[in-house]
Amino acid sequence: MLAWIPGPIEKGLLGGAKVAFKDRYDVTAFRCNQCGHLDMFVN
Ligand SMILES: [Zn+2]
Repeated sequence: MLAWIPGPIEKGLLGGAKVAFKDRYDVTAFRCNQCGHLDMFVN
């Protein structure tokens, strides 16, 4: 699932993204039928 996280990603010891769950925001994307551009919204 696509998600947006505010601020720089803090890297964990193994190189993975270490992010607190409460700082995650789901991203909703809408595709334009005319030109195909993508609008994304973060709640
Ligand atoms: Zn468009």
